[in-house]
Amino acid sequence: MSYEAHKIRLIMDLRRQGIADKGVLSAVERVPRELFVPDAMRSEAYENMPLPISQGQTISQPFVVAYMTQALCLGGRDRVLEIGTGSGYQAAVLAQLCRRVCTIERYRTLLAQAEGRFEDLKLHNITTRLGDGGKGWPELAPFARIIVTAAAPEMPQTLADQLDDGGIMIVPVGPSGDQTLIRVTRQDDGFKEERLLDVRFVPLVDGLPPGRA
Ligand code: SAH
Repeated sequence: MSYEAHKIRLIMDLRRQGIADKGVLSAVERVPRELFVPDAMRSEAYENMPLPISQGQTISQPFVVAYMTQALCLGGRDRVLEIGTGSGYQAAVLAQLCRRVCTIERYRTLLAQAEGRFEDLKLHNITTRLGDGGKGWPELAPFARIIVTAAAPEMPQTLADQLDDGGIMIVPVGPSGDQTLIRVTRQDDGFKEERLLDVRFVPLVDGLPPGRA
């Protein structure tokens, strides 16, 4: 089967799994996932599963990418902060649906590869940063939306504090094997938290890795 045929099958799968937002489905359709996975795995790019990338990290399952994107309720004028650039795939999907994506990764090597993909795909509305995403991006805060693609031990208040009024953050919370996707909404009187879905993510890790990785 060609990528196109695999892609159509994936979109049908996402619909069956409850992804109804047409903007999200067409964003997934527009981003060539085969360019975000290791060369040896290109034939599996449109399977609805996570795949390993380098540094022991993973590119999330397309369903989870679509689900989190849908749960963000994006507006076209929004500026979105992503923690955990990884392959860059989630950022590329977000970039189809909002004004600007600001994404932070702690591995230099992963970030450089992702930046190359953004360049090749002419995704000029993505701004990248090497660093510890747990601290957020205070110079650019507040953000209308925040998406965390690594699991935090508890609701990351430092990030929630960088949300705009009415802003929404989607974050997996909990230890390995027992994580839940939480939606945090900033309201006048504080933060509302909703539990959305059980998930599996690599952990959010403090600081930068040692050496040049
Ligand atoms: N959004 C990615 C999925 C990445 S997996 C994609 O679409 O491919 C999670 C990523 O979060 C990994 O690349 C990991 O290195 C990164 N990460 C973990 N802790 C981090 C931190 N404190 N700051 C920035 N990135 C972090």
